[in-house]
Amino acid sequence: MSSPPRACVIGWPVEHSRSPVIHGYWLSHYGIDGAYEKEAVKPEDIAVFLRDLSEHGYVGANVTLPHKEAALRAVDQADTAAKAIGAVNTVWLDKQGLLYGSNTDAYGFMTNLQALAPGWRASCDVAVVLGAGGAARAVLHGLIAAGVRRILLTNRTAAKAETLAREFGSPVEVLSWDARDSALPACGLLVNTTSLGMTGQPPLDIMVPALPTTAVVADIIYVPLETPLLAAARERGLTAVDGLGMLLHQAAPGFEHWFGIRPEVTADLRAQVVATLEAG
Ligand code: NAP
Repeated sequence: MSSPPRACVIGWPVEHSRSPVIHGYWLSHYGIDGAYEKEAVKPEDIAVFLRDLSEHGYVGANVTLPHKEAALRAVDQADTAAKAIGAVNTVWLDKQGLLYGSNTDAYGFMTNLQALAPGWRASCDVAVVLGAGGAARAVLHGLIAAGVRRILLTNRTAAKAETLAREFGSPVEVLSWDARDSALPACGLLVNTTSLGMTGQPPLDIMVPALPTTAVVADIIYVPLETPLLAAARERGLTAVDGLGMLLHQAAPGFEHWFGIRPEVTADLRAQVVATLEAG
């Protein structure tokens, strides 16, 4: 008899990861005999750990910081999203032992956006994306795949935005960080992917009142859940999309690969994760 499937999240450090709460909730909710664990793996050991994943007893894993780029190099096959984003956050083994890698952050962001702002596409001729780090790559991939034709990308370090614009091609145009407010009157969707507004970081300085009344504002930060940006958007009567839904939705494809059920993101799951965030 085969043993129950086990998956894990691999990071360095890994203690802060919320993934065990999410997958633990689904395992118990669907009555699955399986396990989801944390694995602290040093950067110099990640390639070997992934190569030996089945010997460690795992059918797959989430990969978090700082291993996502190394995981892309380590998998036998990566999907389109992982290649475009340049990073892998979910891996699974097939029956032959081949290691597959995906990046589910774009899926998570877009699924959450669609769920919380179903009308976002109608008002989105122009999207403005703030930040050009790892998460911005996922957001750009998701927006371009959804057919957004014009994305103004702005980042404190202009060179990073220019690199992304070159990689992602014509829908992406670089806007200087100092000129970010000038893009707002025509902006249908504003996405913050910087760490500004996160607990312990300065707030994002942006002129929310300059946005049209139809604009949707998304912040991918989820600590705090209600960032100053989202609070200002709501105060102005705009649709505001928080970052927790992205975190929850990005977890679903991995769970399905490892445990065979496509899990649902529900209000109850969200409440459980919020409780752990509030507990610190
Ligand atoms: P990252 O690669 O380190 O990028 C950080 C970004 O923030 C860069 O664009 C950086 O600009 C900008 N930034 C940092 N401090 C700044 C400042 N003082 N002024 C202006 N810009 C500043 O990080 P990441 O992985 O993309 O993550 C970014 C945020 O997204 C984090 O808060 C993370 O928790 C969140 N996130 C959420 C999810 C989710 O599922 N909801 C998933 C991934 C990430 P420079 O390039 O100029 O340094």
